[in-house]
Amino acid sequence: MSFLLACPHCGLRDVNEFASAGEVTERPRTSPSVHELSSYVYFRRNTAGVQREWWYHRFGCEAWFLAERDTRTNEVLTTELPRPQPRQGSAAPQEAAAPDVPEV
Ligand SMILES: [Zn+2]
Repeated sequence: MSFLLACPHCGLRDVNEFASAGEVTERPRTSPSVHELSSYVYFRRNTAGVQREWWYHRFGCEAWFLAERDTRTNEVLTTELPRPQPRQGSAAPQEAAAPDVPEV
């Protein structure tokens, strides 16, 4: 698999400079059920089409960013930096829905 990916900081680069962290998932609520927690940990949608993913520019600026990629063609439609996470209790509901940055 070889294609170009646009880092929000560095621009177009070979995909081998990046690490993929998979599709964006939403963290379950504060006290999830066993089913919600196991779904969050083990199951992915595995979309055949456009999916939102986490990427890390490991051999560049080391930034985490989001990309929309068509999994059938590897065409990357957009890349963007994640929005900052609001502090707990001070966020509007739509801002609180921003995905978590995965750990390395
Ligand atoms: Zn970069």
